Amino acid sequence: QDSAWGKLQTMLPQWVHESKAYTEDGQVAAYIPELARAPQNVLGICLMDAAGDTVVGGDHDFRFTLQSISKVFTLILALMDRGEEVVFSKVGMEPTGDDFNSMLKLELVEPGIPFNPLINAGAIAISSLMAGSDPAAQTQRILQFFRDVADNPTLAINHAVHRSESDTAHRNRSLAYFLKDNGVLSGDVEDVLDVYFSHCSVEATCTDLARMALVLANNGVDPIRNLRLMPRRYVQIAKTFMITCGMYNASGEFAMNVGLPAKSGVSGGILTMVPGQYGIGVVGPALNRKGNSTAGVHLIGKLSQEFDWSLF
Ligand code: GLN
Repeated sequence: QDSAWGKLQTMLPQWVHESKAYTEDGQVAAYIPELARAPQNVLGICLMDAAGDTVVGGDHDFRFTLQSISKVFTLILALMDRGEEVVFSKVGMEPTGDDFNSMLKLELVEPGIPFNPLINAGAIAISSLMAGSDPAAQTQRILQFFRDVADNPTLAINHAVHRSESDTAHRNRSLAYFLKDNGVLSGDVEDVLDVYFSHCSVEATCTDLARMALVLANNGVDPIRNLRLMPRRYVQIAKTFMITCGMYNASGEFAMNVGLPAKSGVSGGILTMVPGQYGIGVVGPALNRKGNSTAGVHLIGKLSQEFDWSLF
């Protein structure tokens, strides 16, 4: 293994310790009541190389729900099920600069489609494209895909989080009904939302995120099993969205300071990667104003600086 790996093993505990202080600057998401139960001071990380060897730090066993991180993989699955033409008739390719659950710009992209598949409106549109005869079958198909990519058959939905989100999702409901009115969603709106809440509620650890990221880092091939799981073109699309929209309306700042494709979620997870080298999973439930993990962003920034990982 290279010298970077050795330095990681030696230095990671100290870097995690330093970044942990930033958990104090953030707030755990509370708009989904069940998420508010997460502890403020958690910070965990796992880095995985192409042989499946890992370096872990902090609270790497902490379990959290994927939330918006799941949107990267439902996008890829929708592309696999329906192809580019159908997917991009439902969502655009541009960042919004607005909050992830904003309703402001829904009318602006012709013909009234969400700007991109990583904001809530776009991800709900993507959820409607999943193959399967009913919401249960669609959800099962998504879960099976996540399990395949994570190489973990035990991945499962956290039903308490699912229920909590569904009970309080007034804004997502209004986005979805608006999309229905614009003709973007076909089928029953509540069914589509149920699929969306389900994939957001899949529970994982940093190690699962690192494993999933490793597949993206290798353009759709799992290097450990030497198995192609998704077409290279669709991974390219997903990684491009991760750069431009993956950290919500802080994606420009993250690209500037870190320079890696990444996707965050409101439970505090961040999935990122060093293309061709490592998959990385981070969790820190305390979030900044834009909805990204305060300590997680700090830790990834530190690593990127130390190892000169920026793609730019
Ligand atoms: N399930 C969350 C929601 O719809 C996902 C949002 C996120 O992680 N930013 O609000």
